[in-house]
Amino acid sequence: MRVLAVFLTLLAALPAQADWLRLRGTHTELLTDAGEKEGRRALSRLEQIRAILPAAGDDGGRELRVVLFDSEKEFREYARSESTSGLYQSGLERDYIVTYAGGELPRVVTHEFVHFLLNQTPAPLPRWFEEGTAELYSNAQINGKRVRIGKEIEPHMNLLLARPWLTATQLAAERPAVSADQEQAESMFYAESWALMHMLNLSPNYRDHLPQFVTLLAQGTDASEAFRGAFGRDFEKALAELPSYLRRIRSVQLGTPPPAPFLAAKSELLSDVDAMLLRGDVALRRGLAEQARTFFEQAAREHPESAAAEAGLGMLALTQNRPGDARRYLERAMQLDAKDATILFEYALLERDAGAGTERVRELLEKVVALNPNFGEAQLLLGVRATDDRRYDAAVTYLRDAARLLPRQSYVWHALAYAQQKLGHYPEALEAAQRAVRTASTDEQEHMAEALRDALRDQVLGKAAR
Ligand SMILES: [Zn+2]
Repeated sequence: MRVLAVFLTLLAALPAQADWLRLRGTHTELLTDAGEKEGRRALSRLEQIRAILPAAGDDGGRELRVVLFDSEKEFREYARSESTSGLYQSGLERDYIVTYAGGELPRVVTHEFVHFLLNQTPAPLPRWFEEGTAELYSNAQINGKRVRIGKEIEPHMNLLLARPWLTATQLAAERPAVSADQEQAESMFYAESWALMHMLNLSPNYRDHLPQFVTLLAQGTDASEAFRGAFGRDFEKALAELPSYLRRIRSVQLGTPPPAPFLAAKSELLSDVDAMLLRGDVALRRGLAEQARTFFEQAAREHPESAAAEAGLGMLALTQNRPGDARRYLERAMQLDAKDATILFEYALLERDAGAGTERVRELLEKVVALNPNFGEAQLLLGVRATDDRRYDAAVTYLRDAARLLPRQSYVWHALAYAQQKLGHYPEALEAAQRAVRTASTDEQEHMAEALRDALRDQVLGKAAR
């Protein structure tokens, strides 16, 4: 009795939990405890940005989950850096944006959303391009009459006026290499990237050549060469022109008609257990194993029938290299819910690693893509499996889907090129191999892709000569 009394006292001391809501947009779900109004505002903003961003076009159907915390304090439990106000992270079945409500929300969520959209484009873009574009669109002004971009971002401008700039070499690097204050250098990196993308997008001297720059990058041209080719001057020269451009900086009205506000359908109320699992999911993505465990265990204890709780514990076990536990949890999760693509996918990998027959693994993966055709990694594995079985037509079908969903992964393009080569489709194979070279992120990937590309060039040329 005494224990119960203590427990009830503790419960009374807890602050009332706000409801979590789910709103749905295009390939996007937004989950929030910040209230319906704030959720709708953020979702409408994303849909409008999708409509005005020229690079966006088709997002390949990849799913996005936006988690919008009401409390900055709670958000900080998942963010490592003090200065971060939003996070973008790519995942297996979907990508994630995590942020919190408040005055800066439209700008922050737009910045992260631009990363999501750019991540669906095949061209590997320099970091200054990505961060600069994300900043440029972050404060886009969209109302019923017009769309304007390029309004001055004061903190960036103040920094640019007050501090020494990064050199062209530092800006072109993935991370600005500086001896002194790294945080200061990062802030300058954002400010300078914003200013540069402002000029490249909006200055009459540059804007018409920007599409060509992107095309050259997509063709695999080295960034500094592509810059010179598109804009007719070196990167260093453009940077040197930036200070005088900034003196007359203006926002610009875009020719695109203003997109209508997005009206999401009625929100759904998340159950308590789903809200708990959502936090566990975010913690897991952020590599915070202990927090994730707390949420998943509590959910499993209070709701033994929850497949997602068991699945969460299974995923956690996977990240901690405990395959036996993972299998137990995932099997239980599948008994409770046989229709979750991620659970099935992870289980298929466990089966594969445990030496299950290829038929068994294929069967599981086919169920995954039947449940979610936009599950890129599953399409890839099915394509590789079909290649191993010499079913090249089937392989190409799977791998085309995989390449659409994972356009920046060199190994996907490599697998596609190989299957097309086996079918004797040399020109298509050569194109895919070239993309594998462009998207390579390691030396090994690059060497493998180059070898395949060279072999295909010989085959294409050989065929033409015959
Ligand atoms: Zn960013």
